[in-house]
Amino acid sequence: MANPLTPDVLVDPVVLTRALVDIESVSRNEKVIADCVEEVLRKAPHLSVDRLGNTVMACTDLGREQRVVLAGHLDTVPINNNFPSTVVDDLIYGCGTSDMKSGTALALHLAATLPDPRYDLTYLFYEAEEIESQYNGLALVAEAHPEWLLADFAVLLEPTYGVVEAGCQGTMRALVRTHGRRAHTARAWRGVNAIHAAGEVLRRLQDYRPRTVTIDGCTYREGLNAVRISGGVAGNVVPDECVVEVNMRFAPDRTEKQALEHVQEVFEGFELELTDSAPGALPGLTAAPAREFLAAVGSEPAAKLGWTDVARFAALGIPALNYGPGDPLLAHAPDEHVEIGKIRDGAATLHRWLAAPSF
Ligand SMILES: [Zn+2]
Repeated sequence: MANPLTPDVLVDPVVLTRALVDIESVSRNEKVIADCVEEVLRKAPHLSVDRLGNTVMACTDLGREQRVVLAGHLDTVPINNNFPSTVVDDLIYGCGTSDMKSGTALALHLAATLPDPRYDLTYLFYEAEEIESQYNGLALVAEAHPEWLLADFAVLLEPTYGVVEAGCQGTMRALVRTHGRRAHTARAWRGVNAIHAAGEVLRRLQDYRPRTVTIDGCTYREGLNAVRISGGVAGNVVPDECVVEVNMRFAPDRTEKQALEHVQEVFEGFELELTDSAPGALPGLTAAPAREFLAAVGSEPAAKLGWTDVARFAALGIPALNYGPGDPLLAHAPDEHVEIGKIRDGAATLHRWLAAPSF
């Protein structure tokens, strides 16, 4: 296959978005798109290029004082009668248009067309963001080549509909267990009903008042929810165990340990087992490149309530945020699309921010 990412495609981020969408790249099938991206980056004399699996890294080395990472994943969720792309009026439809080939196109467009940015830039085009963390290209890079991630600031071009979404909330899941004693329901007084005991767990959840926290102008809304409940032995048995699975979403001013202590406090007196946990990320909007980025965007940042790869940078001490042309509400939807105007706006904003000042 001839590489569709020709020079005249790379100069236009809208055309480039379509070209990327039309290279099928469902998670674990990113080899072809990574090959195409690597080939065009290697042709750019101002970039040094390296690769790990199907993750491609390219960086400038201009001796600038600060370094910025621009990152986008190459994979998509499975196709759903939405491949290849189609255009209707100002909208490009297709799998990955919003999440996040329009964002990835902005990074690739800049990599190919901006030889003298005001910061040194590291571009990361990575694999397997949409599936389990063990395959995630950024996670693999953090293990094998942590030096690729070193920077003063990072922008992930995930869909935010042109708004800056800073930081992200942490998430943790835990099992709250109640115990009882089995008995025949005909002689229920001989037993202790563990499902009834779970009523107190649910009451505490219902009474729970989640915090709202504002950090660097971003408002995070926490949440503690039961997401699953199981218990019961048979139609004539007093059950001896009930398990309520809870999910805590916590603002990034709490560490994972503090969030766990908080959940333990809420369910004091009950057996609690932590099953899964991921830290949040502070918005980190005080770094100089971040402030200049916000000035270029020209609108107030919003808090990211979900968990994103931003937290992987935060774990390395690098402030990071999300900013991309796609609409997050359309991600993974069968009618996924992106507005051409949002792609053009995003490209103009990033150029304004990254182009070297003229003297
Ligand atoms: Zn995404």
